[in-house]
Amino acid sequence: MRIEDDSKLDYKDVLIRPKRSTLGSRKEVELEREFTFRNYQGENDEHYRGIPIMASNMDGVGTFEMADALSDLGLFTCLVKNYETDELHRFFNQERPGRRENVAYSTGITAQDFSKFEGVYRQTSHRLKYVCVDVANGYSERFSDFIKQLRDVYPAIVIIAGNVVTGEMTEELILSGADIVKVGIGPGSVCTTRIQTGVGFPQLSAVIECADSAHGLGGHIIADGGCTCPGDLAKAFAAGADFAMLGGMLAGHDEGGGEIVTRYYKSGEITQTDAGWEDRIEERKFVNFYGMSSKAANEKHFGGLKEYRSSEGREIQVPYRGKIENSIQNLLGGIRSTCTYAGAKKLKWLSKCTTFVKTGQQFNSVFAEK
Ligand code: 5GP
Repeated sequence: MRIEDDSKLDYKDVLIRPKRSTLGSRKEVELEREFTFRNYQGENDEHYRGIPIMASNMDGVGTFEMADALSDLGLFTCLVKNYETDELHRFFNQERPGRRENVAYSTGITAQDFSKFEGVYRQTSHRLKYVCVDVANGYSERFSDFIKQLRDVYPAIVIIAGNVVTGEMTEELILSGADIVKVGIGPGSVCTTRIQTGVGFPQLSAVIECADSAHGLGGHIIADGGCTCPGDLAKAFAAGADFAMLGGMLAGHDEGGGEIVTRYYKSGEITQTDAGWEDRIEERKFVNFYGMSSKAANEKHFGGLKEYRSSEGREIQVPYRGKIENSIQNLLGGIRSTCTYAGAKKLKWLSKCTTFVKTGQQFNSVFAEK
């Protein structure tokens, strides 16, 4: 047994130091980024260009509707794994801007997953460019073998692979053929891995270390999970993430397709009516949201939790938030503002412009809703 003594940090443990800047307005900040990929060998030298924020491949988030709405805004979506082959054919073959550039097909690593992908790719090949190979634990040999196999058979796809949290495994995945490594074990809003297993890594440090390893090899990373507010997302980019992936922050919107549940609460306030004093009743709307390893997800997709597995996700209700566009504008406004504070005219330069300061308090919660 060994203990690492240097401190590892989460988003909440740091703030970004403001710096003198020549930027006049937030409007001047460019959030779009352009990437070419290390292992992708498409016929022509195509670049990724867009705002590098991704919807996670979770139920209620990585839906076709979300992909269309986010693609219109220049953002990216990793689709949930459980769409049927026919649905995927239809989706990818539809004439619509952004289908190829802003959407990833997601898959696991079983033989069945591989043959499903073969079937979908055969019918959609020139329109399907991004494949997100997603497992909870990216440290198994089977996982890197799968990435190697996929790269050998399909040189003209961009491979996203994860999840890992350390530099050496980021390098291993890139050398196995991945273009983008997904980073994060345990930070997610509906994840219970840290409770259930004791395994994980503080997310800000994971992003810093994995970005360093990936960039040294010409690879890229996604900071996946743990963002609770626009400021956290800005910290992820400031820490060196090329992309950031969101689950909980994008849940509860119309495009996620979840059922809206209405609940009634006594507000605590009483009002006078003709009949006398009455409790004021408040109506609140919620949407179910759950981790993809939760009991709820296993029941929905696999008919129950296998007996040797335990649930590593929770099921919650998030407030219903309407259309995704408003939330995205708020999010992008926050990141633009970060860039002006840090003196970065482009999101690309944010990490170079950033000095993190350690803090014991992220924000003043004295009047925050309990
Ligand atoms: P969030 O943005 O909600 O904090 O985190 C989203 C990420 O949490 C997802 O992209 C995925 O990596 C991770 N995640 C989703 N469902 C589960 C789950 O059931 N268990 C665990 N351990 N992680 C999950």
